[in-house]
Amino acid sequence: LDILEASDSAVAEIIRGEQHRQQDHIELIASENFTSKAVMAAQGSCLTNKYAEGYPAKRWYGGCEEVDKVEQLAIDRACQLFGAKYANVQPHSGSQANAAVYFSVLQPGDKVLGMNLAHGGHLTHGNPANFSGRFYQFCQYGVSATDERINYDELAEVALREKPKMITAGASAYPRIIDFKKMSEIAKSVGAYLFVDMAHIAGLVAGGAHPSPMEYADFVTTTTHKSLRGPRGGMILTNNDELFKKIQSQVFPGVQGGPLMHVIAAKAVCFGECLKPEFKDYTAQVVKNAQALAAALIELGYRITSGGTDNHLMLVDLRPKGLNGKIASETLDKAAITVNKNGIPFDTEKITLGGGIRVGTPAVTTRGMKEADMKQIAAWIDRALTNRENDAVLAEIRKEVSEANKRFPLP
Ligand code: PLP
Repeated sequence: LDILEASDSAVAEIIRGEQHRQQDHIELIASENFTSKAVMAAQGSCLTNKYAEGYPAKRWYGGCEEVDKVEQLAIDRACQLFGAKYANVQPHSGSQANAAVYFSVLQPGDKVLGMNLAHGGHLTHGNPANFSGRFYQFCQYGVSATDERINYDELAEVALREKPKMITAGASAYPRIIDFKKMSEIAKSVGAYLFVDMAHIAGLVAGGAHPSPMEYADFVTTTTHKSLRGPRGGMILTNNDELFKKIQSQVFPGVQGGPLMHVIAAKAVCFGECLKPEFKDYTAQVVKNAQALAAALIELGYRITSGGTDNHLMLVDLRPKGLNGKIASETLDKAAITVNKNGIPFDTEKITLGGGIRVGTPAVTTRGMKEADMKQIAAWIDRALTNRENDAVLAEIRKEVSEANKRFPLP
């Protein structure tokens, strides 16, 4: 930062401010994490200068001998980590990885069955405002109203009725284990491809804290910056020779130009970190922390959808408390606790307000927090929401949070 300070103090100051925010606040956004310094070093390296359209040993540019090595390392480590035959590590983001999968085997207008966004699915799983909803004809499955878990019977029924060419599994706000075997049986029964977007849970899959989709899915995509704790980016995995060929040409030149070689180097570093035994411990702790936080919130009278969590996140339904997600997230911001407002399955609240909040533990676990700290966080959340109109109490919590965070330095 000193170098940046000397040449552009305006940007340096903003980055410093963000550093302080990250240090002082409790980060409970389920899709965020803190990367290691090694990941950041690779991402901030001279590899950002290099154009390398194409793939290792098959480039359209000269001078790729070093970046070839790092991309191959990232590919090999990704395959080892997830037990996959093939990996494409070039997608700039999760959304672009998903675009390449759709483009590889679907034609505009084809039918796809995806998880309802209001029940936890992602924008790229058929939202009308997204390219996926504009190019393809999506039909939807969701969770059951009784237990708020994926309704596999309904999924099978819709699949049989609609005969989609592809079924998309995976979610942004679903707190339970996803049964990939069952989904692949349903997909096979109607001759559909199974596409698993494991963006949220990829770290848990890598660490053995969630079952892997690799054995069951035709395509698997992920982001690399959520529970995997790597640089911001995406990746595609498959075990199928023919589908891999299609994926390669759909990533480049299909949806992207030159790959971000500095980010690919950082992905290689991230996968190397995930292959170490400590990462398994980390992911087990992420789940233990989420379960401890959910239990503590339930004890304080909060309704957690589906009654708890099996993974790294939970949805807190705030409607019984007479609150909505927007008020809660704004209140918690004042207390230095960061969450996002979220819809609740079968929500009765306006979409812009959200019936609740999504809360996740990957980032706080990276900082070294454990179950006892989760109990304290639940107590702060409750105190802040109960005193939402009392700025003095919110400022008091903010001070306590900042003080407690000193015990948990960022990587
Ligand atoms: N897929 C899922 C399930 C996600 O939750 C997200 C991001 O939140 C994405 C895809 C998209 O990733 P990105 O934001 O990198 O485009």
